[in-house]
Amino acid sequence: MNFKMSIQQNLNNIKKLLPSEVTLVAVSKTKPISDILEAYSAGQRIFGENKIQEMVDKYQELPKDIEWHMIGHVQRNKIKYMASFVNLIHGVDNMKLLREINKQGLKHQRVIDCLFQIKIADEESKFGMSAEEVSEIMMSPEYQELKNVNIIGLMGMATFTDNEQQLKDEFDYLNSTFQNLQSHDPNLKNLSMGMSGDYQLAIECGSNMVRIGSSIFGERNYSI
Ligand SMILES: *Cc1c(COP(=O)(O)O)cnc(C)c1O
Repeated sequence: MNFKMSIQQNLNNIKKLLPSEVTLVAVSKTKPISDILEAYSAGQRIFGENKIQEMVDKYQELPKDIEWHMIGHVQRNKIKYMASFVNLIHGVDNMKLLREINKQGLKHQRVIDCLFQIKIADEESKFGMSAEEVSEIMMSPEYQELKNVNIIGLMGMATFTDNEQQLKDEFDYLNSTFQNLQSHDPNLKNLSMGMSGDYQLAIECGSNMVRIGSSIFGERNYSI
């Protein structure tokens, strides 16, 4: 029998496994409005997208109490399209990008919450800064002057692997970086790590924000 679980059932099953302090970002990239509405009617309000245009389109069509998180790698020249509404930008990985987010925040008279992305995977394809680069930025006088961005934590993506020990080492590393930076800046509250395949391990390693897509909405089909 080919029994397909509904989005609502998937969501409820995952929520049962999440400690109350862990925020669930439902990653809806490539998925249709109808899928998001199904999760919405089950009570989910935070959705993650990795392409700005797709997020803007969905934002315009969907209820306005949804919080939109940009979880993908963003190009500087596209920040302006989401600056009026985005709730959290997970993948900030350089100073120029932060400057542009600040500029757009000022334009829209808001303070835009962001996370610094740290590279923890040993894959060329993954983005992020080193812990040293992040502390350098955070200690710079220019950073202190940026009034329209608010760095509230760190984000990382582990290597795509089944090797539990490697995943654990990468999550532990990100968590210790987070703890260390947090001791200098209590404003850092969110540690965004863990996806469908590894979120339980990520939570054991200190994550308080997980980004889950396929375990909620099913596999993504990029060919359509
Ligand atoms: C797609 C994506 C996810 C969700 O991945 P799943 O394996 O489907 O849960 C999480 N984080 C980022 C940055 C993503 O691009």
